[in-house]
Amino acid sequence: MGAASRRSSSWAPMGGRSPLRAASALRTREWSYPQAALTTLLAHERPHCDISTEFHTRNGPFTLVPLPGGHRSSLVWVTAEPAAKRLSGLDDRDLAAAVEHQARSMLGAMRIDGPRGLVPMRGLSVERPVADRLALIGEAAHVFPPIGAQGLNLGLRDAAAVRDAVFSAREANRDPGAPASLAGFGRNRGVDARLRGAAVDMLNRSLLTDFLPVDALRGLGLVVLGAIPPLRRIVMREGVQPRLGAPSLMR
Ligand SMILES: Cc1cc2nc3c(=O)[nH]c(=O)nc-3n(C[C@H](O)[C@H](O)[C@H](O)COP(=O)(O)OP(=O)(O)OC[C@H]3O[C@@H](n4cnc5c(N)ncnc54)[C@H](O)[C@@H]3O)c2cc1C
Repeated sequence: MGAASRRSSSWAPMGGRSPLRAASALRTREWSYPQAALTTLLAHERPHCDISTEFHTRNGPFTLVPLPGGHRSSLVWVTAEPAAKRLSGLDDRDLAAAVEHQARSMLGAMRIDGPRGLVPMRGLSVERPVADRLALIGEAAHVFPPIGAQGLNLGLRDAAAVRDAVFSAREANRDPGAPASLAGFGRNRGVDARLRGAAVDMLNRSLLTDFLPVDALRGLGLVVLGAIPPLRRIVMREGVQPRLGAPSLMR
């Protein structure tokens, strides 16, 4: 990675505060949510059976992500910012009790088993993820709240897609950093990021509103998915590893 020169190109996986994006002329939109995520690692009494669980609460998603070994999970608790700050100030015993309560004791007694983090919730999108000899991937190009395990997977698809763009340019004896070589990458990744960003934003905002029809619609959607396993499997597969327009490494 380095500054772009006349012949070099940069593929920028530098996270949401990417200095290369900031130095480019790309139009960027940034916004924030009145939420923060409390993160930590948990040890728990009952096995997670390799199942990730996401509770949708009035203030945001509360997610338990299974870790190897069966009795440890990663916690991402998105809630109103003051509540997240209050939770992060609790001692380990009280925080573990609050987490167990929020998880309806589904994994039994909890113990805090790792460092804590407190991450303000924000969003970021770029009009196009490519500029002069620059391709943005991962959070350099898109940031949204952690709902439905979208962020990392989107970033991995970006990385695989930029690899495809470079390989096909080389095969055709073209300059991989030229606008024509990156145009397809920019179009496809822009669409994927915009669609997923909009879906996550809508889902997150639908949790925050107390407008009954929106609540009812979200509830109905989840009931339908719960009742029709094949539909649920398709939605989950397309959510994590879509087949349509997938980079060649992921087909
Ligand atoms: C609380 C929380 C929970 C999440 N949970 C999930 C989840 O369950 N599933 C999921 O799919 N996604 C999840 N995400 C999203 C996921 O973490 C991100 O999508 C992913 O980490 C983005 O990866 P990245 O490489 O683009 O950015 P980052 O992970 O931010 O990595 C960028 C790296 O670039 C480095 N860097 C920056 N500038 C420079 C420089 N000038 N030179 C060299 N290096 C530099 C940074 O130090 C950093 O290490 C979560 C996000 C949050 C905030």
